[in-house]
Amino acid sequence: MSDLRRLRAWWSARRRFEFCLTVAMVITLTGFCGALVMLPNSALLPKPHAAQATADAVGQAPATDPRLAEVRRSIEPFGPIVARQVTTGDGQQSLVVGHPAQRIEIDVLERELPAATTAVNDVWGTDWAQATTVVVASSPSEFAGLVHAGSMSAEVAAASVADPLIPGTRPTGQRIVFSPDAGRRLDPEGLRTLLRHELTHIATRAETRDGAPLWMLEGFADYTAHRGQGHRFADIAPTLTVQARLHELPGDLPADPDFTGRNAAGIYEQAWSVCAYIADKYDQSRLVELYRQIAAARQTPATEDQILHTVLGTSRADFVADWRNWLTTQTV
Ligand SMILES: [Zn+2]
Repeated sequence: MSDLRRLRAWWSARRRFEFCLTVAMVITLTGFCGALVMLPNSALLPKPHAAQATADAVGQAPATDPRLAEVRRSIEPFGPIVARQVTTGDGQQSLVVGHPAQRIEIDVLERELPAATTAVNDVWGTDWAQATTVVVASSPSEFAGLVHAGSMSAEVAAASVADPLIPGTRPTGQRIVFSPDAGRRLDPEGLRTLLRHELTHIATRAETRDGAPLWMLEGFADYTAHRGQGHRFADIAPTLTVQARLHELPGDLPADPDFTGRNAAGIYEQAWSVCAYIADKYDQSRLVELYRQIAAARQTPATEDQILHTVLGTSRADFVADWRNWLTTQTV
């Protein structure tokens, strides 16, 4: 392997790893941040500093937008604000907010958000808000405040958060937050994929119960994120590709604890591949139907078996065996 190829492979693996850490954190946050959301914002913020006086730099977004007002409370103490209003979905208005130092990331996300919303709609449909608040943090403490966490690992590039879900109602308090160095660690294509992944979590939130199987939740978000981008199997799933060539394929669907384990990168690849397999062997509409049923509750292998019978007409054991066979055909 040439130096250049080795460098590319290293960079690709590193990006993938960071991406996976990102999505792993999202799950943790979704799981526990509900209580923290209840805290008043001031409890999470440092003392305002002098830059607050320049808060009139609010870009194109109307200062009266209540979503902007909410974000401003959190980020104004960290300096001047750049806010962009972006038309997404069927004439909805999304917001991209940050500080001047993150203008490059803000530009990329502003440009990407309409297409990302369309990409999610193409898979999930349009029955969700389609108006998203995206914030780019300028410092670790601002990042932690925006995702309602006491502190955030420097490895995390983005997170999506929401208020605790009240069944039968629309989710509230949803936002996607990018870390201060997401733009340095990810190129525009990486930011695009990450944005689509997080946006999928936002869109599906109303039909996703905490504790539902992560292979479905994360696999589906990754499926939507990569779909239609021309990414090759080996680029999306380098670890799984190697495993397939060594005949060391996983024997079962990924288990939830594995998503935060040492092989998290490979586990996310497996979850993506399960969803890619379903879309390929059956069709995308059945993948979506499977998501709706699997994500609706905590599951056991027995209840998953039942749902797989209903939606795909197969048993869980046959499903896993067929998925493994499909993997070998993708990696020859
Ligand atoms: Zn995720």
